[in-house]
Amino acid sequence: MNVCPECYSVYGRITPLLNPEDCLRNHRQYICSTCGRHICAAVDESGRFRALFPMRSLAIAKLYLRSAEVIFQRPCGIYEIESKNGRKLYKIFSSVDELDSYLKKNKDKTCTTRQPLFETIRYKGCHSSQLRMISAEEVDTYMKERREESKEWREK
Ligand SMILES: [Zn+2]
Ligand SMILES: [Zn+2]
Repeated sequence: MNVCPECYSVYGRITPLLNPEDCLRNHRQYICSTCGRHICAAVDESGRFRALFPMRSLAIAKLYLRSAEVIFQRPCGIYEIESKNGRKLYKIFSSVDELDSYLKKNKDKTCTTRQPLFETIRYKGCHSSQLRMISAEEVDTYMKERREESKEWREK
């Protein structure tokens, strides 16, 4: 299986990970022009969006990297953050300055290397039609394809 060069995923229908139907119906999506994968690109009033939430693994963070890139319109990186209790989380930032200001605000968290584990090699913009709400019909088709594809996920 190949990794999509545009959205860094092996699977083209693996996202949304949680409550997929609800996310597809109610949140703006980034639509990969290469594999067709949809990535939540919802931004709330305070500017928070799914791609910036702390993730529990590097693999999950990679699934959201493309959405972060197009919202920030620049290259981004995934950093490993450690909590005081030893728990590790993975978070996307569009610069080391952003990482630093996050660490300043979250004194219980550290990032020893300050180097991304994975980052955008060459940023490419997207067409405006790739960032939008999708229709009810498109949701149904996507969900159907997702159910088909999910058989492959379990084999892993
Ligand atoms: Zn969503
Ligand atoms: Zn893709």
